[in-house]
Amino acid sequence: MHTLVVNCGSSSLKYAIFDTQTEQSLLTGKVERLGQSGDEKQRTHQVAVAEMLADIGQRGAEFDLSSVGHRVVHGGTRYNTAVIIDEAVCAEIQARIPDAPMHNPYALAAIQAAMTALPDIPHVAVFDTAFHADMPRRARTYAIDYDVAQQHGIRRFGFHGISHAYVADKAAGFLQRPLKDLRLITLHLGNGASACAVEYGHSVETSMGNTPLEGLVMGSRSGDVDAGVLLTLLRSGDFDVEQLDDLLNQHSGLAGLSGLGNDLREIEDQAASGNDRARLAINVFAHRARKYIGAYAAAMGGVDAVVFTGGIGENSATMRRRILQRLEFLGLVIDEDRNQDALVAADQDYALLTSKRSRVEAIVVKTNEELMIARECATLVGSLHKDTAQALANASIPIAVSGRHAHLTAETFAQLFGPDATLTHHKDLSQPGQFAAQEKIDLIGPRSTITGVRILGPLRSVDQIEISRSDEFKLGIDAPVRDSGQVAGSAPVTVKGPHATVQLAEGLICARRHVHMHPDDATRFQVQDRQEVAIAVRGGARDLVFGDVLIRVKESYKLEMHIDTDEANAAELGSVATGSSGELIYTDVDDAYAELTNPAQRVKHND
Ligand code: ADP
Repeated sequence: MHTLVVNCGSSSLKYAIFDTQTEQSLLTGKVERLGQSGDEKQRTHQVAVAEMLADIGQRGAEFDLSSVGHRVVHGGTRYNTAVIIDEAVCAEIQARIPDAPMHNPYALAAIQAAMTALPDIPHVAVFDTAFHADMPRRARTYAIDYDVAQQHGIRRFGFHGISHAYVADKAAGFLQRPLKDLRLITLHLGNGASACAVEYGHSVETSMGNTPLEGLVMGSRSGDVDAGVLLTLLRSGDFDVEQLDDLLNQHSGLAGLSGLGNDLREIEDQAASGNDRARLAINVFAHRARKYIGAYAAAMGGVDAVVFTGGIGENSATMRRRILQRLEFLGLVIDEDRNQDALVAADQDYALLTSKRSRVEAIVVKTNEELMIARECATLVGSLHKDTAQALANASIPIAVSGRHAHLTAETFAQLFGPDATLTHHKDLSQPGQFAAQEKIDLIGPRSTITGVRILGPLRSVDQIEISRSDEFKLGIDAPVRDSGQVAGSAPVTVKGPHATVQLAEGLICARRHVHMHPDDATRFQVQDRQEVAIAVRGGARDLVFGDVLIRVKESYKLEMHIDTDEANAAELGSVATGSSGELIYTDVDDAYAELTNPAQRVKHND
């Protein structure tokens, strides 16, 4: 079976066909001069797709296309993996056009044309942002007014993810060590340039941010600039917003510094002949990249290898040397002969740059974004044929994190709050009819007291107070893990209200994690009431599989998994708002774990 990969830029459309089994490239092609006004040969991306298909048809070979993979630069916060393209995916790509005006509109046009021309096979979007989608909050957050950032969706996304993921994987193969054991700094240095800290297989920092303008010096983009400079230029009256955009994206970077255009070869030639601005451009470029290596080594608490790729990273030994100089303090010692000879042979696709005594390796890897797209595409489409795939695709369950709380009987409530007291509504809970009350009680244990434990309404027929394992230790009481309602023989506890202190002979439990669901959900997930399942949780900083999760089915239940604060902390769901993370359900821990460790099967969740 074969996969067609479409990589659509603003003025060109590159394509390739891969054999999905051998990963061999069977055909490559390019349609250029798209959408350039004033060019009499200008064509739209729809026309380019038609030309691509005509070219593929004319090449004579028989292709058995099983999927089409489309590169999409900006997937927003929704997608941290490749997805089958449907209307919702198109809508998200469309919605991200303001954030990636040079890329997303063209990708969308090509996707729509290709889906019309090849309607019977799945089309897959592979996102440049996906690899970075799970970056820790500290790395993706700008220190600007929190509310303004929320309102405008201002956060760091990162780009070039397909390339960073590909070369990180290649580097691990070269080092003969599992990617999950390595801390890598990958430098994609092409016309666009970015660095990525790949910690144990995950992107934990990357230099491009909300847009592909942040970070390293690029061909014609500035990379990092003090935001104050933009204010100064705007205030000067010499620049309006469009002119500023043009300055930073088109007339900065190597081109802006050197005045010689964005081709590093020309700049290196001129620098060798004494051109001062060419030298400055090279020095600023190398200095910035080196600075990022230091920063990312610090961010990861160490580094095992630095990986170069992209037109400059793969081809300019001089630039690599400049970037790697004076990194001996990190344990990285370049071998200049190796550096000069790297990738000179045409069939080489990676090479070592460091000396035998180097503790940290430097490697150059030829990137292959098209192959990476074909791989992701083939894995995703392949997994679709499995029986479980459709169930997985629909298997997202919102999570609610329950803090400690108390369900009380009318009798206990009256004792604690006085005979005339009534339970007052504070706010509705997600399960229909349930509410948080304004009233709170204190729990008194032999070791200490926990104050301000909220009562949930309505009042019940038995007292049941739910705490976490950590709370148990605070109180000094050994509470059993119980299903809700099963309080017989559970732990005693003393509770204190404004009116009285009451000793409950039983009722203190650690609530067993559970999922509420409607019978329709149970049918959809193919589970039954009181069945025990495993659930893989993503969306926090750490993936986690919870075993021993109880399914509870009732007409009145709304789909929701309930875990306590300890469990949420274990998955580092901490600040993820209730219900906003995505989860998958399995009846088997091994299956759930397999899903977590096979990113191709991941179903995407909100951020
Ligand atoms: P893009 O980001 O557009 O895909 P590439 O990854 O192809 O770009 O990188 C283009 C850059 O690589 C250009 O700046 C070009 O000057 C540089 N480059 C290519 N070959 C060499 C070389 N032999 N020496 C120095 N720079 C090179």
